[in-house]
Amino acid sequence: MALKNIEKLIPPGEVHMVGDGFRMQNYIPFEVSMERMNPIIGLDFNPAMHINPSHKPRGVGAHPHRGFETVTIAYKGAVEHNDSFGGGGAISQGDVQWMTAGSGVLHKEYHEKQFSEHGGDFELVQLWINLPAKYKMVKPGYQPLSHENLGKYTLPDKGGVVEIIAGEYEKIKGLATTFSPIHMYNIRMTKGGKADFSFPASYNTGLLVIEGGIKVNGKNVPAEQFVLFENKGEDFSIDALENTVVLLLSGKPLNEPIVEHGPFVMNTESEIREAYNDFRIGKFGYLED
Ligand code: MN
Repeated sequence: MALKNIEKLIPPGEVHMVGDGFRMQNYIPFEVSMERMNPIIGLDFNPAMHINPSHKPRGVGAHPHRGFETVTIAYKGAVEHNDSFGGGGAISQGDVQWMTAGSGVLHKEYHEKQFSEHGGDFELVQLWINLPAKYKMVKPGYQPLSHENLGKYTLPDKGGVVEIIAGEYEKIKGLATTFSPIHMYNIRMTKGGKADFSFPASYNTGLLVIEGGIKVNGKNVPAEQFVLFENKGEDFSIDALENTVVLLLSGKPLNEPIVEHGPFVMNTESEIREAYNDFRIGKFGYLED
């Protein structure tokens, strides 16, 4: 097997606010295109920040999605999600929620009530995962993936742990059900820890350093940088230069046209028009802000 080299290091993109609750730095689709990392078509990161107490939870009110999935990872603090098909729940440190928008939902995302009352440290990632054409109109779904239930692989020499959200690592399966092959791990490493990874050359592969700092194939990568790997070679290694959290993503490309407009990601322009029309006539259900 051959070494998988770094194609590019991507610094954090422009900050955009999602509602009044999430201060997101974007990596995909502005710095890295949806096509280049598909089926991973969205990556927003709210780096660690302090949230002041508030009786009124901050966040974003009801809005629609169709044609893909949203995956939210809480690293610090807690968020609550509700959708128009009755899906919902709160997640806190280490938990993940995997929402399949499919044929269409309205959802809202706020800081969890108790967390909002007390305030505290907050850190979160939200990913958009594209659905293959034949699954774009599946029934909406919701998978709560609690930290305690995630597959976990303990690295040798007290190097840390790989939490498998989706896919597989060292024969340990991830918890999420996905519509196309995708590996998603949180790697929590202690200083001096080392881990090796191998993915098919064709898979679109990248990682984000959430906290700490690493060497990838011997090259330094500080916090908040996204590593985009070449579609050549399979293997790379990560060495932790300090206590570190890394989000690792690798997916089999769908190789289907991507037509994205606002909250909808489909394969053709006419499907986008249909989505707006269905949204207008109430096919996405109802949800209060
Ligand atoms: Mn949303």
